[in-house]
Amino acid sequence: MPTDECLFCKIVSGDVPAKIVRETDRTLAFRDINPQAPTHVLVVPKDHYPDAAALAAADEATLALVLKEAHEVAVGEGIADAGYRVVFNTGAEAGQTVFHVHAHVLGGRGLNWPPG
Ligand code: AMP
Ligand code: ZN
Repeated sequence: MPTDECLFCKIVSGDVPAKIVRETDRTLAFRDINPQAPTHVLVVPKDHYPDAAALAAADEATLALVLKEAHEVAVGEGIADAGYRVVFNTGAEAGQTVFHVHAHVLGGRGLNWPPG
């Protein structure tokens, strides 16, 4: 997909508004528009990769930074000690709907396992 048609690229560029939670030179964290838990934040690399596998293959350091930022979001939201979940839906059958890799950071309530 060309990045000028990608929703999360547009959020990174500022063309689509979002509630920004954290930012680094390579990543952006913003609130999910349809939260599934009291804390539901998405962490994305600013560069476009369709999914976690593509990011892992192309740029291991940025993938690690996405995970580090997910933890920093949890700390900032006050849920790091209680526990939180980081999810990369990868592929349509797993529920991926936006094909710009993103880590969901979920917490603030008890989370069932296994997920549906
Ligand atoms: P996934 O289904 O794993 O691809 O996750 C995509 C997520 O993006 C969903 O949880 C949506 O609620 C969220 N989402 C869709 N559009 C926006 C938007 N404009 N701003 C913030 N989150 C969004
Ligand atoms: Zn993108």
